[in-house]
Amino acid sequence: MKVIDHINRAKEKNETLISFEILPPLKGKGIEGLYEHLDPLMEFKPAYINVTYHRSEHEFKKNPDGSFKKVTIRKRPGTESICAAIMNKYNVDTVPHLICGGFSVTETEDALINLNYLGIDNVLVLRGDAAKNETAFIPQPDGHFYAVDLLKQVINLNNGVYLEEELLNSRKTSFCIGVAGYPEKHFEAPNMQTDLAYLKAKVDAGADYIVTQMFFDNAKYYAFVEACRANGINVPIVPGLKPIYNKKQLTMLPKIFSIDLPQELSKEIEACKNNAEVEKVGEDWLLAQSRDLKKNGVPGLHYYTLGKPGIVANVIRRL
Ligand code: FAD
Repeated sequence: MKVIDHINRAKEKNETLISFEILPPLKGKGIEGLYEHLDPLMEFKPAYINVTYHRSEHEFKKNPDGSFKKVTIRKRPGTESICAAIMNKYNVDTVPHLICGGFSVTETEDALINLNYLGIDNVLVLRGDAAKNETAFIPQPDGHFYAVDLLKQVINLNNGVYLEEELLNSRKTSFCIGVAGYPEKHFEAPNMQTDLAYLKAKVDAGADYIVTQMFFDNAKYYAFVEACRANGINVPIVPGLKPIYNKKQLTMLPKIFSIDLPQELSKEIEACKNNAEVEKVGEDWLLAQSRDLKKNGVPGLHYYTLGKPGIVANVIRRL
């Protein structure tokens, strides 16, 4: 079932959807660890589970003679097959992420065809970040530059238009398309207004809903939704939420995701004497955020569960 149908159905029933986001395992690890992560979360009957997508990175490895060789490594492959495995094991809908970075338009078309064969009709389309050794995002030769370009390729396929234009009577896909939105602005955008204009372009091109970058101050989410509505962006905006569980996150999260942590939260965490105390503060903060969002009728609560499913499970139990 499509995410947008889940959202609309929940709205009719006056319910708040629960969904999760996970990462594929590192190459060389099995899928069992992922099942151990998901097992305790399944009692909450998530409407869908997102699985992130990861590009190849170029690294330099030292040869025995001291020279260096350039190697290309994709550390977390398997998004499409993990989605299919989760669907089969738990009978839950999945949302593979798809990114521009590192992939040609032909590889993207093949990935979409695979997803269609697997019975997956949801995708979250994203640009992806710059490769680790690059200072700015560089698209693959014959790849997309912006998420909106990838989105248009998915829409084309939904209309039966493949890259090889001469294909006749080609099968139409029916992907439901999500895109990313940033309550605190995407870090490259010169200002919020410009970022909103590009977000609107994604919605006008056919995005069905938006899921947000994580935030720790609900006021920022509400202001973002208001600004979206004022700018003619009228699709559902699902809040993305993440637990804090160690002190390092106080500096890492703002650095990696270009977000602010409220002073009240950072002070409470700094005062903690050990990780157990940090986890308690993180859990209570996430619970307060979730309760407030639920009370205000958000379309769903989307949890970035990476690494700490136990905290997320406690929060949903206490909701
Ligand atoms: P875009 O919408 O393409 O926007 C990127 C920047 O370009 C913005 O500053 C925007 O304002 C600007 N812009 C957009 N269109 C234009 C245009 N036509 N002309 C000029 N400027 C433009 N990354 C991964 O690698 N894998 C994942 O699985 C993944 N999952 C994510 C899930 C969520 C919910 C979120 C919020 C992010 C995720 N990311 C993931 C990170 C994401 O790829 C980065 O944040 C990336 O830098 C931007 O992606 P986007 O889709 O928002 O890009």
